[in-house]
Amino acid sequence: TSFADLGIIDELCEACAELGYKEPSDIQKEAVPWALQGRDVIGLAQTGSGKTAAFALPVLQALRENPAGLFAAVLAPTRELAFQISEQFEALGSGMGVRTTVIVGGMDMMAQSVALSRKPHIVVATPGRLVDHLENTKGFSLKTLKWLVLDEADRLLDMDFGPSLDKILKAVPRERRTLLFSATMTSKVEKLQRASLVNPVKVTV
Ligand code: AMP
Repeated sequence: TSFADLGIIDELCEACAELGYKEPSDIQKEAVPWALQGRDVIGLAQTGSGKTAAFALPVLQALRENPAGLFAAVLAPTRELAFQISEQFEALGSGMGVRTTVIVGGMDMMAQSVALSRKPHIVVATPGRLVDHLENTKGFSLKTLKWLVLDEADRLLDMDFGPSLDKILKAVPRERRTLLFSATMTSKVEKLQRASLVNPVKVTV
């Protein structure tokens, strides 16, 4: 199986080749075709499985087709993970002129507000700080969002981001795609899944 077999466009197949991805990983094989078809997806996968590209590739491909406003938000439990995710979006989307911004706690709020005012396509964020910006940064909203990704959902909930996630879910359009990745399926993750995904496909590796 190649990335092209999964339905990935040439430009992104080339980006994968440049990054040394010879063929899709199992989670990519399972999740990418559904996401490209516009289905909400729950991916049960560990770090190291290639889960980041499993959501970055479909989001970038959809962005290619419809580059309007803030397009996607990816929520991650830690700063380190947020930066890693953003790096992968930038590496895979380097030929597309994708603008990505990282919005995490412990860093200058003002500089982040300026970055948000530059109209990024993709925001990778920890939930608490994203809510700070929703409440305090003039002109920033999630109203044009087309895709929401919840990465490491089990850890997001273990770190008590639940209340922030609830606020974010109220601020995003109902008409959107949602992808949820988690290493484990706990009852809290199931509850979040029911609150955020519509008729999802569940894939496990
Ligand atoms: P992740 O599970 O998303 O943290 O990815 C783990 C590592 O695998 C990252 O360094 C990715 O760049 C890399 N990777 C992702 N997809 C592939 C692939 N299809 N082939 C080889 N490496 C990959």
